[in-house]
Amino acid sequence: MRYEAPKTLEQAIELLSGADGRARVLAGGTDLLIQMRSGRAEPELLVDIKAIPEMTSIAADMGFYRVGAAVTCMELIENEAFAQAWPGIVDGVKYIGSIQVKGRATMGGNLCNASPAADGVPALIAAGAAVCIAGPRGRREAPVEEFVTGPGTTSLARGELVVSFLLPRRAPHSGDAYLRFTPRTEMDIAVAGAAVNLTLDATGVCTRARVSLGAVAARALLVPEAAAALVGTRADEAVLDRLAAVAGAACRPIDDKRGTKEFRIKVAGVMARRSGKIAMERARRRS
Ligand SMILES: Cc1cc2nc3c(=O)[nH]c(=O)nc-3n(C[C@H](O)[C@H](O)[C@H](O)COP(=O)(O)OP(=O)(O)OC[C@H]3O[C@@H](n4cnc5c(N)ncnc54)[C@H](O)[C@@H]3O)c2cc1C
Repeated sequence: MRYEAPKTLEQAIELLSGADGRARVLAGGTDLLIQMRSGRAEPELLVDIKAIPEMTSIAADMGFYRVGAAVTCMELIENEAFAQAWPGIVDGVKYIGSIQVKGRATMGGNLCNASPAADGVPALIAAGAAVCIAGPRGRREAPVEEFVTGPGTTSLARGELVVSFLLPRRAPHSGDAYLRFTPRTEMDIAVAGAAVNLTLDATGVCTRARVSLGAVAARALLVPEAAAALVGTRADEAVLDRLAAVAGAACRPIDDKRGTKEFRIKVAGVMARRSGKIAMERARRRS
């Protein structure tokens, strides 16, 4: 097996697209190394992206954020301005493993590993984030919700990699939140998760919302009908009940040892309801 740590994006693309055999991007390695040890992944070339400045930096410009795909979860958590702007994304990142895991794990790896239960992904979808992809044919952007195509699969073509995440500018009175349910308090995989991102007008009425669910389908879902339950309301208890019901109805979960389909549907609704409430409180506090 060959290991390369290019210093530029161009070199990384050249290595990935020119590889004869199986080539894999290596970010934090917290998914990939485990897959290699168990024999599930047997790359002939590893392209470590952590020496590429564009992929390891967080840039803010006029309220827009560009977060490099190889920025670690801990770097994101410790970036106070980012955490203030997008607390829901930070909620998701905080769930990823232990402190040691968060010191290595990246958002790009969380998305590209394409687990339906990835905790970093629903809040990115709810935020309306785009993923910036580069490859031998140049650069392209895609909404995060379209990137994963199923468990373990993505829309990346040969030689392509995720460079960064692009986040829109926040309107005043906006708030987001992500919650997940696991049987254990940490170091576990989500049974169901929900992210809500919303904007209020000056009178406290919700004018825009996006809702995303994780671990209840083959990939994280954007649920416009759940968002519609919030828009035009002040998200009182009856509205939050409706949000829970609509979110539950959008779920297409599997049965497994962590929970039955019925349990996941119920829990996804509860997570959406609670995330909606937290997002409302955060939006009210933000001028
Ligand atoms: C103990 C433990 C607990 C965990 N708990 C959680 C949890 O609670 N929630 C959760 O969601 N996850 C959890 N994980 C999984 C893992 O930590 C995350 O998915 C993490 O974000 C992966 O990031 P990474 O940088 O380590 O990815 P890597 O392992 O480096 O890569 C993962 C995959 O993505 C590909 N890849 C990485 N970056 C790119 C890129 N920029 N472009 C193209 N392809 C890329 C790699 O080739 C590989 O296929 C846990 C892992 C461990 C070991």
